[in-house]
Amino acid sequence: MARLGKMQRELLKSARSKQATVLYPFTKDGLNIPKGLRGKWVFKNPDKCTGCKICSRVCPSGAIEMIECRPDDVQTKTGFRPICHFDRCILCGQCVESCPRDVLDLSGEFEMVYLSRDAMIIE
Ligand code: SF4
Ligand code: SF4
Repeated sequence: MARLGKMQRELLKSARSKQATVLYPFTKDGLNIPKGLRGKWVFKNPDKCTGCKICSRVCPSGAIEMIECRPDDVQTKTGFRPICHFDRCILCGQCVESCPRDVLDLSGEFEMVYLSRDAMIIE
């Protein structure tokens, strides 16, 4: 009987309290995304890249490839720029920490579903 009383109290408490879950993926309102989340790899300041290649050297999974700058790309000092093969990225943040020009970032974007590996190349 005491158990039943406790259950009733819990039910009343839940009925009166704010909703604890959100209707994700129909809405993102109310999602508690932690600060500092290591999400999708992005170019934060692409114009600042010098093409120094430090990011590709420190990447433990070989996710960053340096390619020659194409005519429409930001032209770097060395003539090379990084692209990310995101399927290899382990979101360690080494490239972000090591870049002397604050070019790269791991964003708060956590929905990372792709239909092919080609779609995971971030240029
Ligand atoms: S992103 Fe940063 S570390 Fe990588 S090549 Fe450009 S400047 Fe160098
Ligand atoms: S976050 Fe880590 S694994 Fe991903 S590209 Fe940067 S260094 Fe490589």
